[in-house]
Amino acid sequence: MTRHDLIVIGAGPGGYVAAIRAAQLGLNVACVEKESALGGTCLRIGCIPSKALLESSERYHQARTAMAEHGIRLKDVGLDLPALHRRKDTIVRTMTDGIGLLFKKRKITRYLGHARLAGPGKVVVDSDNKPVELEARHVLIATGSTSAGLPGIEFDGDRIGTSTEGLAYPDVPEHLVVIGAGYIGLELGTVWLRLGARVTVLEYLDRILPGTDSQLARQALRIFKNQGLEFRLSSRVTAARIDGDNCVVEAEGAEPLRCDRVLVAVGRTPYTENLGLESVGIEVDGKGRISVRDDFATSGDRVYAIGDVIRGPMLAHKAEEEGVACVERIVTGRGHVNYDAIPGVCYTEPEIASVGKTEDELKEAGARYRKGIFQYRANARAHALGQTDGSVKILADEQTDRVLGVHILGARAGDLIAEAVAAVELGATSQDIARCSHAHPTLAEIVKEAALAVDGRPIHA
Ligand code: NAD
Repeated sequence: MTRHDLIVIGAGPGGYVAAIRAAQLGLNVACVEKESALGGTCLRIGCIPSKALLESSERYHQARTAMAEHGIRLKDVGLDLPALHRRKDTIVRTMTDGIGLLFKKRKITRYLGHARLAGPGKVVVDSDNKPVELEARHVLIATGSTSAGLPGIEFDGDRIGTSTEGLAYPDVPEHLVVIGAGYIGLELGTVWLRLGARVTVLEYLDRILPGTDSQLARQALRIFKNQGLEFRLSSRVTAARIDGDNCVVEAEGAEPLRCDRVLVAVGRTPYTENLGLESVGIEVDGKGRISVRDDFATSGDRVYAIGDVIRGPMLAHKAEEEGVACVERIVTGRGHVNYDAIPGVCYTEPEIASVGKTEDELKEAGARYRKGIFQYRANARAHALGQTDGSVKILADEQTDRVLGVHILGARAGDLIAEAVAAVELGATSQDIARCSHAHPTLAEIVKEAALAVDGRPIHA
């Protein structure tokens, strides 16, 4: 029986980063992954392929609609969808192969197969050949999540599917119905809209992007509608099925919708199937999550869990932080994740990025705060880019001026949020941000101006 200091189950961003950090700290590490490619949902069928599609589809859209304004004449702009998919697949392969190289460099042993706990310190890997039995001082569960379904939805793995199918449609749907106006629904809905589909988004709530600052979400909704996305809010989908050449989607209180493809994006479920949790005395909660303490220890002896399989937002970088903190705690006794400083980004155009408390949360908590808002349209670089939609909002404590939350809707929001994350992490005030020199002309100046606006003194407003 092979023995390791640490066995990590799952090679997504949580698991592979934890494995690398543990190897850096001197542990003998193994990582078990059931898929032949490393990287998990994020790299194989999530964040990375979707970003590739968002980039390509935006360029196609720009080529068709925005070049004339720049004085560029294009003729016969056409779409080569197989080439677009090939580019995406190459990016995914490059990134997933890269993790294999990192594992080799760090001497991390990789096992291909489905891992299952088989009692304290024991893991069995079921692969095509015979099961492999492993022993470990510590086991880290980083098995992630899978797409959630809905009662009444009949997935056929093709026309009615999840984001996995939505990343690889072989042709542009005429009419795509997206169920759920969260991150996945909006990102992939946007991709197929830009590539020429009619896209209708059905959302149960009366708003899009639950959890996002509601003022920004309202602004974003207006922009997406102008781009051509159709929304049916307050619309609870009860059924979706294939009907001849069409799909039919039924929602409460509305006429059934006929379309040629359905993308279900109603959240994700922790993945713990056949993991042998009972063999080490671990139970899951009502949402299928594994309960952990602050040090990510589960109720199983020396079994830890991180990422989508535990509480908190299902985000790759949150899982990464947890993976690092968990193995640092195991080896050094120290390690911590500041959940107030985990950003969220939706990669639509414009992007939507947030960190810290939303204004809704502050109001609900009765907190006293000041806010500064600055619009993209007052920034020179935004004009040069031709991307003037959006704003930056900074929320700061009324007494101390400490930054409590930053919310950005606009071009490159996902990059701009890094400064705000640093501010929240370091306990900076809005005036700390305002005092920093921000290069001119950049979009970052919008963040500085929003910080000045907290104190009522923006320069260009
Ligand atoms: P989500 O939770 O973000 O959004 C799901 C939406 O579906 C919600 O708005 C919900 O109200 C709606 N919904 C639920 N039941 C419904 C019904 N019966 N009818 C109509 N609408 C219904 O989930 P998601 O977009 O599927 O994303 C899953 C996870 O993946 C999220 O945790 C998200 O954070 C993560 N993710 C992140 C990114 C990113 O960081 N850019 C991208 C993709 C996914």
